[in-house]
Formats: sequence, structure tokens, C-alpha cells
Amino acid sequence: MSTSILYHSQGISDYTYQRTFYEGGAIIYKINPQSRLIRCPICGCREVSPRGSVRRRIMLLPTGTHKNYAEVNIPRVYCPHCNKLRQIKVVFADEQRSYSRTFERYVLGLCELMPIQDVSLHLGISWGTVKEIHKRRLVKKYGSPSLKWLSSIAIDEISIGAGHHYLTVVLNLENGAVVFVGDGKGSDIPAVGMPVARRPRLEPVCWRILTT
Ligand SMILES: [Zn+2]
Repeated sequence: MSTSILYHSQGISDYTYQRTFYEGGAIIYKINPQSRLIRCPICGCREVSPRGSVRRRIMLLPTGTHKNYAEVNIPRVYCPHCNKLRQIKVVFADEQRSYSRTFERYVLGLCELMPIQDVSLHLGISWGTVKEIHKRRLVKKYGSPSLKWLSSIAIDEISIGAGHHYLTVVLNLENGAVVFVGDGKGSDIPAVGMPVARRPRLEPVCWRILTT
């Protein structure tokens, strides 16, 4: 392993490879941030003072059946401009995530081919972690659908489980895409965000009332 291979295989740049060790069947790469990354995570100021470091392990793309981790000593720095003591950013993983962005993309790719449970078993991570990654992707992609060309909608009410928990779903009648989900039914649902409220010139509306 080298700094170059880390970049090309794991998408990690601006970190210097130090050594490799093995623990419980996992391969762990010890890496250190290069000096250009030592800056305030808030304002980007480079005139920061070191205040120790925090060791963190971040899951990387696996090698066959072996899990890979990056072990990083993340410097803590004091920024005189922000008057804050913070850890520097980890550039190859999102904040508060225990896996790299390349690993996240790999999970998303697998989710297109197999159920979440199978992805979880294949990668040896929890079902919840896979679900969290997948859900975040769905929210990002479909959370705010464009209503620019929306002209026809259908409204349906569904019940969840055996209880009296209802959802009101608004669909684009032309392509079936969900454009709004309201918690409750009838007058219970908040109008904020409903396409009806945002697009008053909607034409035909198909409404199916839940029968219980
Ligand atoms: Zn700062």
C-alpha cells in the first residue's frame, strides 16, 4: 500500500500513508493528514494552534471478504478567529459518519442490485447502517421533487399496519411519482408543502378515499 494506491483504490487524497496492520481479520491503514488539511473546519483559517488529536477509524471499501479501515489521528486545533477548539475536517468521509464516501457509494450501488438485508450480510455491517445510507440517498434524490411541470395529481389515503395511522399520498398522475406524503388523512394533514397549495392551477384530480 502507498499514498498513491490509497488515492486510486479508496479515493483518499491529501493523507500520507504510514503503515498497515491487521486486527481481527480486518486490514487497517494508518494514515495522517497532510499539512494543507490543518486548518479551521469552520472558517478555513490556517493560523491555528494544535491542541492534541483524536484517533478515529473509518470504514473503507473492502478487499474481498476483508474489511478495510483507515485509522487517522485527527488533529484538534484552536482557531483565534472563531475562538473555537475543533477537530479538522476528514475530507474523505462526511461529518459524523464512520465510513468513507467511496464506501457509501459502493453500498448505494449494491442496493440497486440486492435487498438491504443482503447488502448488510455481504459487507458485514448492520441493516440500520445500510438503511440509513439508502434513505439519505432517497431523500436527497426525491425529497424535493420538481413541481414545475405538474398538472395532474392523484390523492390516496393509506393505513399503516393494523393501527389507525394514516398517510395521505399525492402522486403525479402522469408518471406515478410521489410528490407529497402527509401524516394523517382528510383535514388532519398539514397543507404546507402540498402541491395543491403550491400549484393552484392543477387540472384534473383523482381522489380515492380509504375504506376501513
Ligand atoms: Zn475559524
